[in-house]
Amino acid sequence: MQDGVLSATAGNGRPTAPSLSLSAPISGWVTPLSEVPDAVFAERVLGDGIAIEPVTATLYAPCDGTLLSVHRGRHALTLRAENGAEILIHIGIDTIGLNGRGFLSHVSEGQAVRAGDPLVGFDLDALALQVKSMVVPMILINGDRFAIRLRQAAGEIVVGAPLLEILPLGVQVVSEPEPGAMARREVTMRDAHGIHARPAGLLAERAKQFSAAVTFSLNGRNANARSPVSLMLLDAQRGDTVTICAAGADADAAIRDLADMIEAGLDAATAPASPVQDSPAMPVPVAAVAEFSASERVSLAGIPGAPGHAVGHAVRLASDIPEIVEQGNGPAGEIRALEAAIRTACAEVQVTIDSLDGKAGPQAEILSAHLSFLGDPDLREVAGSLIEDGKSAAFAWHTAIARQIAELRRLGNALLIERASDLADIDRRVLLHLLGAPDGSRALPEDAILIADDLLPSQLTGLNRDRVAGICLAGGGPTSHVSIMAASMGIPALVAVGPEALRIPDRAAIILDCEIGVALVHPSPTELDQATETVAKRRRRSEENRKLAQADCRTADGVRIQVMANLGALADVPLALDNGAEGCGLLRSEFLFIDRPTAPDENEQFAQYQSIASALEGRPLVIRTLDAGGDKDLPYINLPRSDNPALGLRGVRMSFWQPDLLRAQLRAILRVRPVGQCAILLPMIATLGDLRTVRAMLDEEKARLKVSAEVPLGIMVEVPSAALISEQLAAEADFLSVGTNDLTQYTFAMDRTSPPLAKYLDPFHPAILHLIAATARGAERHHRWVGVCGGLASQPLAAPLLIGLGATELSVIPQVVARIKALVHGLTMEACREAARHALTLASGEAVRDFLAKRWPDA
Ligand code: PEP
Ligand code: MG
Repeated sequence: MQDGVLSATAGNGRPTAPSLSLSAPISGWVTPLSEVPDAVFAERVLGDGIAIEPVTATLYAPCDGTLLSVHRGRHALTLRAENGAEILIHIGIDTIGLNGRGFLSHVSEGQAVRAGDPLVGFDLDALALQVKSMVVPMILINGDRFAIRLRQAAGEIVVGAPLLEILPLGVQVVSEPEPGAMARREVTMRDAHGIHARPAGLLAERAKQFSAAVTFSLNGRNANARSPVSLMLLDAQRGDTVTICAAGADADAAIRDLADMIEAGLDAATAPASPVQDSPAMPVPVAAVAEFSASERVSLAGIPGAPGHAVGHAVRLASDIPEIVEQGNGPAGEIRALEAAIRTACAEVQVTIDSLDGKAGPQAEILSAHLSFLGDPDLREVAGSLIEDGKSAAFAWHTAIARQIAELRRLGNALLIERASDLADIDRRVLLHLLGAPDGSRALPEDAILIADDLLPSQLTGLNRDRVAGICLAGGGPTSHVSIMAASMGIPALVAVGPEALRIPDRAAIILDCEIGVALVHPSPTELDQATETVAKRRRRSEENRKLAQADCRTADGVRIQVMANLGALADVPLALDNGAEGCGLLRSEFLFIDRPTAPDENEQFAQYQSIASALEGRPLVIRTLDAGGDKDLPYINLPRSDNPALGLRGVRMSFWQPDLLRAQLRAILRVRPVGQCAILLPMIATLGDLRTVRAMLDEEKARLKVSAEVPLGIMVEVPSAALISEQLAAEADFLSVGTNDLTQYTFAMDRTSPPLAKYLDPFHPAILHLIAATARGAERHHRWVGVCGGLASQPLAAPLLIGLGATELSVIPQVVARIKALVHGLTMEACREAARHALTLASGEAVRDFLAKRWPDA
């Protein structure tokens, strides 16, 4: 099925986009839009088009193009044809409430498709009973640039038959936004399904009634409010705080109107109640309303992103991304401007890398990643084609990145989501060069505590480090790059505080406690004095800790506790050893596999593992086999689609799906010399069968490589089933290492990547402690050692608890090794066991933390 593409010329002789023929995306009965039982389609709010009452159950691409969006509910998608026409296809009416049930998507956002490729399959009979109608409208969204001509207006049609033509309107005339007032407001989405097709259409219609240029922003993505597609691509969900900015004479009125619409609820205004009940209410963050008054002493809870305490004064950082004008001044000039801005941004990053004096570490690694993103040819290609379409360099660059970010976020993979903030960072750098806004020019007081919605690594490195005492963010997460960079720069950071953080007034006195996760705003003079003393004491202590860190770690009563470092790459080794790490308790080998088109082969892996083993100078190296699949998807691993990827083929299960990959990795580890320095750790073990399968493979590979020495094979305990059958597993595993990040996610059935759930995912909760205790009991019966390598181990407060529960190895982030070793030196086993026994009887994670903080105030 190939389209017939016609060519066209505008009246002035300049070529316009070619016209295009769309084929029927599904077999059925052609129906005029006016008969679709939904006013938004019938009244052409989203645009003009046609509908089909389907008789078959697979939707096919009506032309070649690229998928701009695939709704998370899989019932709607937007296709951009090669001539620039944007086509929305929506399966059924009110199908959004089904949340994807009954739909199977064959495609993903950003994917190129050919006419006739299958896009979505669905259960026609079952769905028809649940929704108002299964009619499939196909809409031309950018009707300002094209017109449609129907080839068939009624009657039966088979998939692939010509249905309509899209004709260019000639040269597009876009009015410049009027100069005038600027306005900005934040609103929190209340609708159960966020901004999906219908609300997007209504908002865009309303936005068109104003002369002001209105932009919606969310998570670094901007959407032109007049474009329903870009509003949908925002993927704004209930609870999201969307920033609306307007520029132009009637900016205030536009903002008021649009914000009021959102606050009143868009779905309620447009649709009957969804056939599916709303999910039970989680607290919805409330948009910040006013600053705290100077007499208000406020305590805000957040998540420690980088450890430490700080005392200082608030410096509120607003987003410094300048306003972006969509229309360009001609492709040649815009391309030159973009190339120059990218070159300058690269040079700037390089200068910062050079200023690190060749020191390897997370900061250098993150900046090097930025350099490679800046040189990414795909990003340039997408931006280039937008520029060819008449967009400005800034808009094209920003859009190309925003699409990529949306795609990364959609994947829901924690590792890849971190890459999204890197993309936002290079987006900002290039935009600042293109648009000439000042960068980091704000003068900071001596003890600045940065307050922001979120912060990008480049914003942090652009500031005077000596003046930044701490960071307090409404958003962010403990694994975001700004947290990692703050930790490596020694700046305490509190993240995921929520919108209340933005109520902290500029220059307010603040005490940040990034151990227990609290920001105290407007503290009393006594509290301030105490906190200042704590900070000074801590500084002295951390210098002493580092001096003592090179010795073996033992408790005060002589029990050996190994304190190891979690590593992602060779570059992490120096910091770990400097802090006294006794080896590596978790090498996350997936860092070797991401951001590349194919898997590293056995030789490449061997070279990497050997270089890390050698850098550790004989200390133990525990290499975790590839923990990918499911929500940590790698594009070159062809896994079957899953509706629930976190519960799908992940970790060791993914390895069983691709056994050759696992065998290559096992061989690469077995080749590292000296044999025995490396141990192998298996992620996501859920059953004894999982372990036995890998054990058999390992024995075969050892025989093949003629390795007869012992190479320990351990398991991660990060699925509750593994904790519950730890005795059986310990009979056959050489060691057990508890991954509290996943163990918490799977015990509470809460997605660890979901910001609104971050506060509830508490590894101190007694439910998790009972599973760790069960693991230790099972291991003890077979004299196996138990370690903890999840994030809980990196929290100093947890050290006595984990030791008391039976862990003899703690594998932690490199920055806290020295501190944890010093802490362990002061503990006795009796005190640890007693604390663990008591913690198991408490009712909440908070109660456990309070108890530990009182018992070990110095921790
Ligand atoms: C864990 O789940 O605790 C863990 C260490 O693994 P990761 O965080 O890499 O999933
Ligand atoms: Mg894990």
